[in-house]
Amino acid sequence: MGVLKYTEDHERFRLNLREFLAREVVPHTMEWEEAHIVPKEAWKKMGKAGFLCTAISKEYGGLGGDFLYSVIVTEEMAAISQAGLCAMLHSDIVVPYINAYGTEAQKKKYLPGCVSGDIITAVAMTEPGAGSDVGGLEATAEEDGDEIIINGTKTFISNGLNCGLVVLAARNPEIEDKHAGVSLYLVEDGTPGFTRGRHLDKMGMHSQDTAELFFSNCRIPKENILGQKGAGFLMLMEKLQQERLMSAIANVAIAENVLKEAIAYCRETLVDGKPLGRSQAVKFALAEMTTDVNLNRAFLDNLIADHAAGKDVTAQTMMSKFASSEMVNTQLSTIMDLFGEYGLLESSPIARYFRDQRITTIFAGTTEIMKTIIAKFLGL
Ligand SMILES: Cc1cc2nc3c(=O)[nH]c(=O)nc-3n(C[C@H](O)[C@H](O)[C@H](O)COP(=O)(O)OP(=O)(O)OC[C@H]3O[C@@H](n4cnc5c(N)ncnc54)[C@H](O)[C@@H]3O)c2cc1C
Repeated sequence: MGVLKYTEDHERFRLNLREFLAREVVPHTMEWEEAHIVPKEAWKKMGKAGFLCTAISKEYGGLGGDFLYSVIVTEEMAAISQAGLCAMLHSDIVVPYINAYGTEAQKKKYLPGCVSGDIITAVAMTEPGAGSDVGGLEATAEEDGDEIIINGTKTFISNGLNCGLVVLAARNPEIEDKHAGVSLYLVEDGTPGFTRGRHLDKMGMHSQDTAELFFSNCRIPKENILGQKGAGFLMLMEKLQQERLMSAIANVAIAENVLKEAIAYCRETLVDGKPLGRSQAVKFALAEMTTDVNLNRAFLDNLIADHAAGKDVTAQTMMSKFASSEMVNTQLSTIMDLFGEYGLLESSPIARYFRDQRITTIFAGTTEIMKTIIAKFLGL
C-alpha cells in the first residue's frame, strides 16, 4: 500500500474520468492541436461531467473533493498529454486564488461558472520584462473613486484567448517597494480596455491558447480586488507551492506513461531479428529510466500527502518540480532515440510528448530559479 490512500470513490472517479477522456477528448486531440485551441464547448462538457474544480465545495457547485481528486485529474490528463484542455491550470492553479482569497460575493459570482466550465480562467503575472522576477512587473492599477484603472501588457498567458476571467497581478505605481505594491485583481472578459494580443505560436503544447493580454485604461470596480490590497506578491508565493506540485504530478505521470510505451516498443520491435530490448545498452537505458521514475514517484507521493495535510513543503516541492521536469525531458530524448525514425512521426506517440514536455523546465519557475531558492533554504 502506497503512502496515498485512494478510496473506492477515488478509483471510481478515475475510471469515469478515463472513460470520459477516451470518449470526449482523445478523438479530438489532433483537431485541437491543428486549431491551436480547444473549443469552449469541450471545457463545458468537462465541467458538466464533474471533472473541473473538484476541490470547490458543494455550496458553489463543486464536488468538495480532497486533494487526491485533483491529483487524479492531473495524472489522467497528463497520461493523454492533453495540453489545451488544461484542467490543472484552471482547477488547481487559478481557481484556488478565488476560493482562498475571494469575498463571499466573488465566490458566489464566479465559482459556480468555474466548476461548470462556463468560465475559463487564466492567471496573468508574466510581462515582456518580468518572467522569473515577478517583482519586476510593471502593469499598474490606480484607484479612481470606486474604480481601478489598469494599464499594462501581459504575455505568455495560458488560456489567454479562451479565458472569461483573469486573475491579474498589477502594482500601485505610488508604492516604490517592488513587492508591497502588488495586488491581485479579477478582470472579466468584455471589460472595456481589456483586449487580446497575439496568439503565440509555440513549438509545443499547440492546442493550448497562449496569448498576450493588453490593458489600456481598463476600468474595473473596486470590488474586483482579490484578497488584501498590497498582498498580491504574498498570495502568489503562497499558491506557487500547489502550482509547482501540480507540475511535478503531471511530469511524473507523463514519464510513467511514456516509459510504459517505450518498454512495450523495445519488447516488440525486432532489430537484426531480435527484440530491441535484448540489447544490453537498451536494457540499461530502460532500467535507469525506471529507477529515476520510481525515485521521483516515491518523493512526489510523500509530498502530495504532506501538501494534502496542509504542511509547508515549499523547498521539497521545488526539488520535485525541477527534478521531475529535467527527468521527463532527458527520458524523452533517450526514448526518441530508441524509437528511431518512427519516433519523429506525428503518428507515433512520442513526437507530441517530446515537444510538449520541453516547456516543463521553464514554466511554473525555471530549473535555475528552483535551484536558487532551494539554495536559500540551505542558508546559502
Ligand atoms: C507555454 C507557457 C505558458 C505560460 N503560462 C503562463 C501563465 O499562464 N501565466 C503567467 O503569468 N505566465 C505564464 N508563462 C510564463 C512563465 O511563467 C515564464 O516563462 C517563466 O516564469 C520564466 O520566465 P521567462 O520565460 O521570462 O524567463 P526569464 O526570467 O527571462 O529567464 C531566462 C533565463 O534566465 C534564467 N534566470 C532568470 N533569473 C535568474 C536568476 N535569478 N538566477 C539564475 N538564473 C536566472 C532562467 O532560469 C532562464 O534560464 C508561461 C510560459 C510558457 C512558455
